[in-house]
Amino acid sequence: MYRRIPRYVRAVITLLQENKHRAYLVGGCVRDLLRGVSPRDWDVATSALPSQVENIFPRVLPTGVEFGTVTVVCEEGQVEVTTMRRDGVYRDGRHPSQVTFGQDIREDLLRRDFTINALAYDPLQDELVDPTGGLRDLRAGILRAVGDPYERFGEDALRLLRAIRLSGQVGVEIEAQTWQALCALHGNLKSIARERIGQEVAEILALDEVVSPLTRLDESGLLKLIFPPLYSQNRYPPAVSLKTSGYLPPVLHLRLAGLLLGTAAAPLLKGLHLGKDFNRRVTHLIDHINGLRQVPPDPASLRYFLSRLGPENLKDLKLLALALGRAGGWEEKEGDAIHHRLGELDRLTDRSFPLSPRELAIDGHDLRQYLQIRPGPRVGAILEELWFEVLADPSRNRRDYLLSRARQMKPL
Ligand code: ATP
Ligand code: MG
Repeated sequence: MYRRIPRYVRAVITLLQENKHRAYLVGGCVRDLLRGVSPRDWDVATSALPSQVENIFPRVLPTGVEFGTVTVVCEEGQVEVTTMRRDGVYRDGRHPSQVTFGQDIREDLLRRDFTINALAYDPLQDELVDPTGGLRDLRAGILRAVGDPYERFGEDALRLLRAIRLSGQVGVEIEAQTWQALCALHGNLKSIARERIGQEVAEILALDEVVSPLTRLDESGLLKLIFPPLYSQNRYPPAVSLKTSGYLPPVLHLRLAGLLLGTAAAPLLKGLHLGKDFNRRVTHLIDHINGLRQVPPDPASLRYFLSRLGPENLKDLKLLALALGRAGGWEEKEGDAIHHRLGELDRLTDRSFPLSPRELAIDGHDLRQYLQIRPGPRVGAILEELWFEVLADPSRNRRDYLLSRARQMKPL
């Protein structure tokens, strides 16, 4: 294991130990090292107080000093260094009311969420600390709460989502009693900030394999709390929405679009706090999936549709449409029409055509000059009219043709 730990991470531990403090790698990074996967981040637990850590390392960020966490910044990366602690009573279903700094790694591990996360490793002594049987559970493929699962979920409801995310991410099954507690306490999710829920949901939807995590979210009642309209105001049965998302590649905007396709998605997305541009991208796709049902199949209408969609989004739209079809979201007759339209749209992108009146072979300046009209809304209206003509037949996009047509339109 030693050699798979980056040099800078080992250096942080070495320096802490040379200063007579205890220091261990802890949590997810130990879990991932044990299963041969590259950890996403490096966490160190130490007996040193945050102020002592700040004195040992030249570059330290005060990430969460009141909870004992600072970030040690190295050239090659960062290490989160947290003072070992014992948590007090949980105040609000999320945060302990007080933390007591401690010296005992076992005690620090016992306050963690799941046994496979309650692991510590000292790379210098090559010593694994595993007070809850985390290694055994990891080998057996089990996600089990540390101690009493009702207590664990009761203390911090974010663990409800972490359980489902980690089970998918690590590829472990949620143990029966842990699952029972999770289902029983799913209502506690209400105490968690929408933003934190959004982050976890985003991580779940970006997992390679999303079908079983989504199924867990559904069965536990969590999904209904996160997206109520999926169950009450959905064009499709919830099972179809879940499957649609599951048939899409692990890309967040696609998976979310697939899941929320049948709902008024905008307010739901807003609640997740994933960013305005991101939300627009998802609703844009959803709007066009619904538009695909209605667009007449003639080339002019399809070109108009494509220009509104943006040809760069056609690939996403196709993935979404096919996933919805596989999930049973298209009616039988509708399915053929959709396939036909997607084929036509594909062919239309092969030949170029102006995607807006601004891409015509003439512009407003030409019109004003040749037609002797003043600037104003009339200019834009003529250009738009010409654009529709060109959408019907792109070979019309020539100056001579457009100007002579514009002359005919002018008196209108
Ligand atoms: P990831 O692979 O996403 O980094 P992780 O398990 O490492 O998963 P982190 O958020 O990096 O998750 O947290 C690091 C460790 O801190 C966890 O492994 C766990 O021991 C502990 N931890 C994190 N969040 C909680 C929580 N809500 N309750 C209890 N322990 C937690
Ligand atoms: Mg981690």
